[in-house]
Amino acid sequence: MFKGIVVEKDAEGYRASLAEIDENRLPAGDVTVRVEYSTLNYKDGLAITGKGPVVRSFPMVPGIDFAGVVEQSDHPDFKPGDTVVLNGWGVGEAHWGGLAQRARVKGDWLIPLPKRFSTRDAMAIGTAGYTAMLCVMALERHGLKAGDGPVLVTGANGGVGSVAIALLAKLGYTVTASTGRPGESDYLRRLGATDVIDRKELSEPGKPLQKERWIAAVDSVGSHTLANVCAQLRYNGVVTACGLAQGLDLPGSVAPFILRGVSLVGIDSVMRPKADRVAAWERLARDLHGPILEDIATEIALPQAIDAAARLMRGEIRGRLVVDVNAS
Ligand code: NDP
Repeated sequence: MFKGIVVEKDAEGYRASLAEIDENRLPAGDVTVRVEYSTLNYKDGLAITGKGPVVRSFPMVPGIDFAGVVEQSDHPDFKPGDTVVLNGWGVGEAHWGGLAQRARVKGDWLIPLPKRFSTRDAMAIGTAGYTAMLCVMALERHGLKAGDGPVLVTGANGGVGSVAIALLAKLGYTVTASTGRPGESDYLRRLGATDVIDRKELSEPGKPLQKERWIAAVDSVGSHTLANVCAQLRYNGVVTACGLAQGLDLPGSVAPFILRGVSLVGIDSVMRPKADRVAAWERLARDLHGPILEDIATEIALPQAIDAAARLMRGEIRGRLVVDVNAS
């Protein structure tokens, strides 16, 4: 038996609870992992609270990511004792996930954890941080270089936002953080933001073309915010879009694209090919470690994850929540 969060939906309604689960109930897969840490990402908040339709079969163990040690493997790349990390692939949505002491998955979904990181570090970064790295790498592929101009990060206090600020600042970019929580400005400046703006500047309907402000942006918010970011990008600027914290819509115009050569780059982390994942985790090991991760992460025990999910959905969590699945 092992402990895990279980999400159920039936005649009694939608609910999440902590449960003792028989190992025989683990789903099919060629690698079984003794999970050490998982995290709460935005999607996990949706899965646990039922605020968004991310869970595709019930009962479901949520948790779109985990880090742990291989217990049993029929996969040629992994043997018992290997330390691994998993992000996405529908885990925690369609396949039992990481908010539990055991997980069984396809070995093809696993990445060897870079030696620089502990399993706790890996989940302090989590899928939000790995996605932030994918965003930064996309900006680099677009030709962005430190010194080109100010880079905007929206949803700054969130997981993607916090890690994006830390990464960009470490790489020498001048970063402006957009937040609805200006009271957290000291935290955002510690991460490396040089300026902090109120997200209200971006969250209302705006003109198709506005004063040119940013050379690039990392957006995890979507909706009017993303439309306004596009309208404020400088000539040839680029924004990566990975999230929908404000909304799934994009109420903008083509004007920034056709008149200023602006680029909008979509970022998906879930189905990302393995080579990109390995490259992103290697870059994280190079560019993000040490005390900054401690500042970004707050640790909770598995039973606290259900209440914490509701707080995450209310926008009350700063940075990343690391879940020790073996603490009670
Ligand atoms: P968090 O909940 O940690 O952070 C989201 C942040 O967005 C909040 O902290 C808040 O920042 C801001 N925010 C919340 N509500 C609003 C609103 N109504 N208007 C404007 N800003 C708002 O989430 P994550 O960082 O983990 O994820 C962010 C988004 O990215 C989510 O939509 C998630 O689904 C998506 N995502 C997508 C991935 C992909 O593969 N494409 C992978 C990972 C995440 P502040 O308080 O500073 O304003």
